[in-house]
Amino acid sequence: MSEPAANRILVRKYGGSSLSTTERLLEVARDVRLAREEGYSMVVVVSAMGSTTDELATMARRTNPNPPRRELDMLLSVGERITMSLLSMALDREGCPAISFTGSQCGIITDGSHTDARILEVKGDRVREALDRGLTVVVAGFQGVSRDREITTLGRGGSDTTAVALAAALGAVRCEILKDVDGVMTADPTLVPEAERHEHLDWVQMQDIASSGCGVVHVRAVEYAAARGVPLVVRSSFHADPGTRVGEKPARAPSGSISPTPGRERYRPLTVHSAFPVARMRLCTADAGGFRDTRDRLLTLLDPCALVAEWLDSGDEFRWEALVHSRNGSAADVRTEFPDLMVGENLTVVSFAGGRPDTWLAVQRDLALRLEDLGQTGARFRAEGSTLHLILPGPQDPQVIRALHGHFLVE
Ligand code: ASP
Ligand code: MG
Repeated sequence: MSEPAANRILVRKYGGSSLSTTERLLEVARDVRLAREEGYSMVVVVSAMGSTTDELATMARRTNPNPPRRELDMLLSVGERITMSLLSMALDREGCPAISFTGSQCGIITDGSHTDARILEVKGDRVREALDRGLTVVVAGFQGVSRDREITTLGRGGSDTTAVALAAALGAVRCEILKDVDGVMTADPTLVPEAERHEHLDWVQMQDIASSGCGVVHVRAVEYAAARGVPLVVRSSFHADPGTRVGEKPARAPSGSISPTPGRERYRPLTVHSAFPVARMRLCTADAGGFRDTRDRLLTLLDPCALVAEWLDSGDEFRWEALVHSRNGSAADVRTEFPDLMVGENLTVVSFAGGRPDTWLAVQRDLALRLEDLGQTGARFRAEGSTLHLILPGPQDPQVIRALHGHFLVE
């Protein structure tokens, strides 16, 4: 690599599916040692192993269906602490001296919003000192400490934000997000074998993708990286292929924008992904004052990561509509507590990200025709920012997603 030797701090984040077993931890330790031998000072941010966070959350809800959020943070932050200490042990075994720190030990200061805290400041003194001593630093992602000295977590998927915030604070050459996919793909390659990897994305494109709910990189991490100019690389933890570079100038015109050729303008989203089972919830109320509490209560019950998209209309009455992942029967739970809520369940939501069209109407028409060809009826369309959500009844055959990917995303 050609960065100047003076500034070679590399922040690398490993996601939970890249760290699902102790064998994987040993492989990751070897890869970290190799990067260290290339001359990088390594800061490794880790997620909880495999589905640990889900398991902890399930244990909490079995113990108390409405757990105090402070205690939830005490529990959920443990997942990443397990990984950080084990990885540090694995690095020691590799002959690569390392030290692990929690978010709080790194001086990641957040607001006090338990389970969904925002980073206010990163002190990073202990990280810098450890790097100066030649150690590799392993950091528990997804957590920080509030000014009241309470442990907080950053919202599901928040380890990406830890990594970007540390990279910004340390002046790292870049922040690498290592995953179980090859980069930012046009679709999930397990459903759509023709899916392609984006080589380069600019900040706006990456923000469009992250905010569409496809989960490839945490939305706040992308916002933070864009605001602080931290170059990102999203790539596989299983091989050394280059992945997707975000924030650096692309070598050629990026795809996903409207083609500039007159007469050829067409909607060309950047990614498409689908989610099932999703519930659609609607609430109309004349009590605008009470609405915020109702919504907060609902979202607490549902778990913050459950939200796919939400819309609000305010006029004579408030109309709220949300699409939420309805696994674990969460939709049924809220129905008993909020009898006024209209809930449609067992839906598939197909979301197209980016590629802002002049008018959604033309896109909607094109999409409706494609769906007709595919024998699909009963679809609803909802645009939200630069994302188009298509809501379909029941589970869907992957062929539908493949056909839509072929129509809209492939040249
Ligand atoms: N372990 C947390 C989660 O599953 C944070 C993360 O993975 O980034 O949401
Ligand atoms: Mg995780």
